Amino acid sequence: MYRKFMRILVLSAHCDDETIGVGAHIAAWRRAGHSVKILFLTDGTPRNRKFIAANWLGSARDYRHARRREAHKAAEELGLAAGEIIFGRIRDQELAANLAAAWQILKELWLEWHPHWVLAPALQGGHPDHDACNCLNTALRGYVEQAGNAANRRFLEYSLYAREGNHICYLPALAGRKPRLHILPEDWARKRKAFRQYRSQAQTLKPFPLAPESVRTLPQYDYSKTPEQGYAWELWGWNMRPRKLSRQFHDFLARQAARP
Ligand SMILES: [Zn+2]
Repeated sequence: MYRKFMRILVLSAHCDDETIGVGAHIAAWRRAGHSVKILFLTDGTPRNRKFIAANWLGSARDYRHARRREAHKAAEELGLAAGEIIFGRIRDQELAANLAAAWQILKELWLEWHPHWVLAPALQGGHPDHDACNCLNTALRGYVEQAGNAANRRFLEYSLYAREGNHICYLPALAGRKPRLHILPEDWARKRKAFRQYRSQAQTLKPFPLAPESVRTLPQYDYSKTPEQGYAWELWGWNMRPRKLSRQFHDFLARQAARP
């Protein structure tokens, strides 16, 4: 399944998703000599101040810069160079409303780099931006298949968090076909170090276990459906409507499919 040398693109909605979800995978891939890039699609800074980490006392602008700096340091711990991480500028919590803009960034990167594997957060109903990344990965798979370029290409998803009843389940295991990968203690140690770089997110990251990470082939999803268990963000009372979110995904993919 592994080629000798692979280009692997990790889509991340926020600075920290990549480390939480696939930090040890990234470290192991780099150790094996594969090339990895991370595309952070949002700036990690919500428009509404009350959603910024409670312990943050500075401005929203400083928060945005701090998250970027942390992402640089974390990526370095995982074995990436500065030029291997790319930042989108879409507002946190607004990725679903800006799928067309995000698509342009993703498509350009695809055309320029032609990654063998592309990973995105799983469609888990955890954070709307995570689900939006997943929808973009599905769009990319469709685009690549339509262009007849899907040979030796693989699209995957990685677990972050999901709702279970009235609780949040962190790093739930995903069933299905998984890439085989031997993760060594040194890879977990790198992940632990990367984790620590995200100081501004210390509170949010506290409940996440380090292991195991769960990665599988991206399923064929029906994005017009809302998850049976409901969305995690409904528990937090976010001002967002479940039906609207699934419609945004569905409409975006329908427009993509209609493109010549
Ligand atoms: Zn996230």
